[in-house]
Amino acid sequence: MKAIRRLTVRTVLPEPLRGLEELVLNLRWSWHEETLDLFRSVDPGLWESARQDPVRLLGEVSAARLAALADDRRFLRRLDAALDDLRDYLTAPRWYQSQDAAGGPQSIAYFSPEYGLTAALPQYSGGLGILAGDHLKTASDLGVPIIGVGLLYRHGYFSQSLSPDGWQLEHYPAVDPNGLPLTLLRDPGADGDPVRVAIGLPEGRTLTAQVWVAQVGRVPLLLLDSDVEENDQAARDVTDRLYGGGTDHRLLQEMLLGIGGVRAIRAYCRISGQPEPEVFHTNEGHAGFLGLERIRELVDEHGLSFDEALEAVRAGTVFTTHTPVPAGIDRFPRELIHKHFGGSAGTSSVPVDRVLALGEENYEDGDRTVFNMAVMGMRLGQRVNGVSRLHGVVSREMFGGLWGGFDLDEVPIGSITNGVHAETWVAREVLDLVARETPAAMPGHGWESALDVPEHEIWRARRTLRERLVLDARRRLRESWRQRGASEAEMSWIADALDPDVLTIGFARRVPSYKRLTLMMRDPERLRALLLDPERPVQIVIAGKAHPADEGGKRLIQDIVRFADSEDVRHRIVFLPDYDIALGQMMVAGCDVWMNNPLRPLEACGTSGMKAALNGGLNLSIRDGWWDEWYDGQNGWAIPSADGLSDPDRRDQLEAAALYELIAEHVSVMFYDRDGAGLPRRWLEMVKHTLATLGPKVVSTRMLRDYVRQLYTPAARSARAMAADDYAGARQLAAWKQRVVKAWPGVAVDHVESAGEESPHVGQELVVRAVVNLGELNPADVAVEAVYGRVDESDAIVSPSYRELPAGEAENSRVRYVGEVPLDRTGPFGYSVRVVPQHPLLASRTELGLVALPPAPMGMTNGDLR
Ligand SMILES: *Cc1c(COP(=O)(O)O)cnc(C)c1O
Repeated sequence: MKAIRRLTVRTVLPEPLRGLEELVLNLRWSWHEETLDLFRSVDPGLWESARQDPVRLLGEVSAARLAALADDRRFLRRLDAALDDLRDYLTAPRWYQSQDAAGGPQSIAYFSPEYGLTAALPQYSGGLGILAGDHLKTASDLGVPIIGVGLLYRHGYFSQSLSPDGWQLEHYPAVDPNGLPLTLLRDPGADGDPVRVAIGLPEGRTLTAQVWVAQVGRVPLLLLDSDVEENDQAARDVTDRLYGGGTDHRLLQEMLLGIGGVRAIRAYCRISGQPEPEVFHTNEGHAGFLGLERIRELVDEHGLSFDEALEAVRAGTVFTTHTPVPAGIDRFPRELIHKHFGGSAGTSSVPVDRVLALGEENYEDGDRTVFNMAVMGMRLGQRVNGVSRLHGVVSREMFGGLWGGFDLDEVPIGSITNGVHAETWVAREVLDLVARETPAAMPGHGWESALDVPEHEIWRARRTLRERLVLDARRRLRESWRQRGASEAEMSWIADALDPDVLTIGFARRVPSYKRLTLMMRDPERLRALLLDPERPVQIVIAGKAHPADEGGKRLIQDIVRFADSEDVRHRIVFLPDYDIALGQMMVAGCDVWMNNPLRPLEACGTSGMKAALNGGLNLSIRDGWWDEWYDGQNGWAIPSADGLSDPDRRDQLEAAALYELIAEHVSVMFYDRDGAGLPRRWLEMVKHTLATLGPKVVSTRMLRDYVRQLYTPAARSARAMAADDYAGARQLAAWKQRVVKAWPGVAVDHVESAGEESPHVGQELVVRAVVNLGELNPADVAVEAVYGRVDESDAIVSPSYRELPAGEAENSRVRYVGEVPLDRTGPFGYSVRVVPQHPLLASRTELGLVALPPAPMGMTNGDLR
């Protein structure tokens, strides 16, 4: 009989062991080796069979074993030490506490639809969630006061297995929050009852949620869970699974995350006494409704108008976009938004037409029938970034229409390249080596010391990690083959599958088509030859999940599995099911080479290659995402990309051929080129170079410091400037914007001339004069800028410079501007003049998307400088 309800009965620990519960309930254990060691010693066999999940371990350990441990003085001393260490970690000042003078925010709310913290908490599907998990862990390490917000999915993301013929099968194991390292948020002011967050739905329905707190070191993560008795079944199912269900379901999840998330934060701060966030960071568009809720608060509680509240909210909001794949952008039909934010479900504080306008694609090529969450994110956030330099460029192209009139370079979307949490992703053997030379190594430091580590020690560590991967892969293969129905006799080959001394290439990722899982199989015979090379064999370890609805992706997996099932190659190429954090950790540590072959430029950043690099792996990748930025010719290999080519088939063919050639002629040659001591010297030089130079860049401490300095702190300053004196700044800016937007059609550059054009020489200054008609505006409302620099054949100014021209005398609304422009380089030079709005509370002059230019191309062109 099937149980109708599932509970996890928590162990009652003997008094001397109570501290274990405190350790388990703080997820810091997920990146703290000493605590993991302590858990392991509770019962080493059980630790492995419980998949290193301490909650399961404590739930299943025998009473006899617990009684023995409660008497074991050595164990109790270690337990005490671990608790001491945790309490220290939670209270001692860290990096952020030394940054006070910079005026950083007192608290930051971080919203994400998924979090990848540990394999034991399967609330993530891929890179976005892993990044969010690393962000929180790093915030904890650096003492950055973040509060995370997400949803608790009752079925998490699926776990993957294979059918006998290699088809992906999905299972959704039910998650019982009581069996996870979570605590329910309760309100001591209400007799300790669980906190309830509610949001209104159409037809008078209400969606209610409780709030679980996952403690990630110093950082609380609030997870909303709609599986509560007050809800009807449909409402209970809102948080049933990650990225499951249709459009309506997704909208409800996003409303709960955004609107409910803000309400959960308010409750949490009230109960815990922690300061309210000054900055709200939304990790991708899914949580964008948080801005609407904050507007509602300001309208209802502070009497601001919608526009005034919008300014106050924008100033403190950071929006990070994560995908250059247009299909990856979150969109809803406008009617659906109307249904949920209009009629009886609407409020007068947040009128539905204003909501719809925020997500409208009202630019060239925009789709007028949809509501675009990313576009709303950009309108609700004054600061926007992509996640690698290249992704910044692509995002400015993708969303440039929102700032029409400006060159792409000026579109106010910056970039902060992702990073990875070293303590989570780097094997202890490697951390020991790079940290040894600098004993007080801070997280994110010490990587340079890799240059001083003796090569044989690095090689020994690499061998250890490769062997560990091989052993783990055999265990997983056995399990998978058993599940697929193989008999023991059919599995005897697995004992010798993979070889701890063979060059090991790793490839693990989600399986959307742009990642091209099967590019390596483009020419199966070529691949077979690489695997079976008698002198320089290669082995490949592959993992990845296809989205449950992606039949094409599942077919790719099946293609790979069928190939890897072939008797002649199965000891050299394996597909390991159920890619998750645990398998990822094993693979990035054990592989010598990390391969990535996306269709450039569709990989926004990619982070698995960073994890490999930190373990002393070398990247072999298309120059996309982070690799485009940091490939330096000595830290791995760049697969040439044929991204100009329009024929996708031809492109695949060219890139696959280049990949085979790189592996055969360079990668494996170098790996197997050994000196008298058996060491691959040139290889190890590249490994050391990788650790020493990429290490400091790819760590998430670098990333988070960038966020604090470039986005959080400026956003906090802007938010304070808006909020001071009962939101005087926000009221003033809203009124100013309204006036400027209305008057802008009357602004014109009437006339431009320059002196000194006759025989221009480098080093001279060109005097530029302009007459600008400001219409209804004042000189203080605008900046008039000379735009100048080298011009191309079409007279476009390439990478222009800008210099503001001071205002001179005025005649009615016509104002003269005069200034000088340096002729600082020889060759074709051009200039123009433009008018842009200017206000001290804007983050950039391009923010409003308004610019006035001279009516026709004006200014000097083809004026060759001598
Ligand atoms: C790191 C990681 C990812 C993201 O890696 P990409 O390089 O962006 O594909 C996805 N899933 C898991 C389990 C990871 O560890």
